[in-house]
Amino acid sequence: MNKELLLSNLRNIPDFPIPGIQFKDVTSLFKNAECLKELDNSLYELYKDCGITKIVGIESRGFVMAAALAVKLNAGFVPIRKPGKLPAETISESYSKEYGTDTIEIHKDAIDENDVVLIHDDLLATGGTMLAAYNLIKKLNPKKVMINFIIELDGLNGRDIFPADADVKALLNVEVNE
Ligand code: AMP
Repeated sequence: MNKELLLSNLRNIPDFPIPGIQFKDVTSLFKNAECLKELDNSLYELYKDCGITKIVGIESRGFVMAAALAVKLNAGFVPIRKPGKLPAETISESYSKEYGTDTIEIHKDAIDENDVVLIHDDLLATGGTMLAAYNLIKKLNPKKVMINFIIELDGLNGRDIFPADADVKALLNVEVNE
């Protein structure tokens, strides 16, 4: 993987959405064709032999690479969304994040016990969002659940929030205050 290419194109926005947050803007990677392809190929190399049947993307920045990878892996794509957005029967989970609190939902029939699931989001900060997603998907009893991020923020120990046996991978590590 060409980490230099990705890191050199990742834009940092200081004090967004509130003072003190160094916001890592993955749209600066998505808009660059070379970076987008690099992300897609890197994810494919990581997960091509894992037997994944469903890729779950977390609204909304998680949708982009989750859907692209699902096509490449011949897997299905499943959205996790904010409350009230999904039309059919849902289950939900609440969580706290680096700034504020939130709730997420998934369609109850989106995952079943035959699925091998990869959950994807753009960034790991405290891990609250992904832990809620992980707990939500566990309720649907899939065979296996893996976790992936484009970026892991170092310095927040977000990774430690997950059970010790959870398979957690990130493509890039970035210091939280840089
Ligand atoms: P957390 O639940 O604390 O791990 O927060 C992760 C979610 O919040 C992800 O969906 C990110 O998109 C967003 N997020 C939190 N902190 C940042 C940050 N410093 N830069 C960009 N996105 C962030």
